[in-house]
Amino acid sequence: MEDTKLTVRFWGVRGSLPSPGPDTALVGGNTSCVEVTTPTTRVVLDAGSGLRALGDALVARGEHRDTTLLLSHEHRDHVMGIPFFAPLYMPGCNVTFVSGGHGAPLRDVLARQMTPPMFPVAFGSLPSRVVCRELAPAERLTVGDLEIETATLNHPDPVYAFRLSSGGKSVVFATDTEHFACVDPRLLRLARGADLLIYDAQYTPEEYAGELGPPRTGWGHSTFAAGVELARAAGVGTLALFHHDPRRTDAGVAEIVQRARASFPDTVAAREGLTVEVGAAVRSRAA
Ligand SMILES: [Zn+2]
Ligand SMILES: [Zn+2]
Repeated sequence: MEDTKLTVRFWGVRGSLPSPGPDTALVGGNTSCVEVTTPTTRVVLDAGSGLRALGDALVARGEHRDTTLLLSHEHRDHVMGIPFFAPLYMPGCNVTFVSGGHGAPLRDVLARQMTPPMFPVAFGSLPSRVVCRELAPAERLTVGDLEIETATLNHPDPVYAFRLSSGGKSVVFATDTEHFACVDPRLLRLARGADLLIYDAQYTPEEYAGELGPPRTGWGHSTFAAGVELARAAGVGTLALFHHDPRRTDAGVAEIVQRARASFPDTVAAREGLTVEVGAAVRSRAA
């Protein structure tokens, strides 16, 4: 299994709310959605507004029959793409959602955003075959040739981080988490030695501390500086700053990448369309 290709493609990198416009055109305005593929397996991380374009691309490529989506959690910015995921409306397609920790069945949680008067099509009446798989804390699972480890994070509602590994390469997806005062030991364990760490960098340290606007402590998000601290402690290869604040312009993202690179040179900004061959050198037009 050594040297199997592991590819990550970003379809949505924004946090909280889609933020299209001229100031965010380079990084992109769609919310959380990341595609991870090996030559034989595809897993989608989160179902934010970036999921629409991914679904359309899968249909165009004829690769839409079976999709597995791992959802970090069900805040709106991470599930709002589901009603617009084309394979859900196609008979013969299989769509599996994996998440948990809500105190209610995942199917019921996902159905809530597709109820009148908010949306006209009910989750339960979709023509595809939909499977909702509950995830237990610290559960490990296998999807095709991807081995997946999980950890729970610090957020106002339960959140999962994922480590996906194949052929000796690995990517960690850790979004919507608050770092508090130190490196989170659960994340340190999950991320140790990973080739790519995708991390919640919603705030600058100044914003987090309340030097610019209100203090963001307790809001469930982190900073690029905490991402750098984790990346160094865990010995990861590349740090991808993710879940950009909706107010963060392209220039603002470039600035935080520069600041992060002062302490961790292998830092990039996640941006829509960025494709990373995990374990290979990463280039980013956005930074
Ligand atoms: Zn979020
Ligand atoms: Zn959240």
